[in-house]
Amino acid sequence: MRLFETHAHLDLPEFDADRESLIHKCFDSGIDYIINVGFNKETSLNSLDLAQKHLHIFATAGYHPHDATDFDAELIKRLAREKNVLAIGEIGLDFFRNYSPYTVQREVFRNQAHLAVDYDKPIVVHNRDAHQECFKILKEVGAKDVVFHCFSGDIIFAQQVLDEGWLISFTGNVTYPNSNLEDVVRMMPLEQFMIETDCPYLTPHPHRGQRNSPLYLHLVAEKIAEMRGVTPLEVAENAYNNALKFFRVPPDPVKPVTKKGGAKGSKSSKSSKSGKAPVKVKAKDKKKEMK
Ligand SMILES: [Zn+2]
Ligand SMILES: [Zn+2]
Repeated sequence: MRLFETHAHLDLPEFDADRESLIHKCFDSGIDYIINVGFNKETSLNSLDLAQKHLHIFATAGYHPHDATDFDAELIKRLAREKNVLAIGEIGLDFFRNYSPYTVQREVFRNQAHLAVDYDKPIVVHNRDAHQECFKILKEVGAKDVVFHCFSGDIIFAQQVLDEGWLISFTGNVTYPNSNLEDVVRMMPLEQFMIETDCPYLTPHPHRGQRNSPLYLHLVAEKIAEMRGVTPLEVAENAYNNALKFFRVPPDPVKPVTKKGGAKGSKSSKSSKSGKAPVKVKAKDKKKEMK
């Protein structure tokens, strides 16, 4: 079963102790791609940094509603031009926690959604208790490619989102006993959903209380499969293909035919522990150690 992790925060301090080994473990255990999601200046830059180090990690850039008061449009414009930044997000509205004033949240969301349209980037939406307001702003700016990450609406809102051709994405919260998502899971078309962990948050059952990681992504696929009465493989494959298309994931760069470098070695790894001075890796020939 190959998996596409569409929403992770592997740059956070929770992963400082074992980040590189965890990433390698993920790629060795069936995770083919990871989208690392930014939510403010620091995490957007760090996501890009991770993406530049790993062939199959890509980044997003954006200011989360919690960080809306720090919004810097110039930074988002600059990052939107980076080829390893595949989407703008996570951006949106969070009227549940309300860490930023409503007016600022709306303004900053609209602004970034606009930028996403201008730069022709898909949008990763964070929406908490603000369904119709999020929807309205996305419609106003003419957003085309949208995913509601960690979907938390009912079937009526889900239908509204799906009717636009937008996607919904499920986290470990589908595995929680009090989850109300079963109806949504059962009604969504297999062409309009993705799966994610949102790690280190939202650890799926039965690992709640532990740190989450992409290694638990299969539990989300398995739960969706159980709810729909299909195989986990079918769920994983559909989610995988939807993600490739949604994020417009570029094909792997063609390996340059040169004497140095070597096609299969992992010597270009920036995390290499060898005594040699680290080779400066150009964006064009990112690391080749991944499959
Ligand atoms: Zn979120
Ligand atoms: Zn997130």
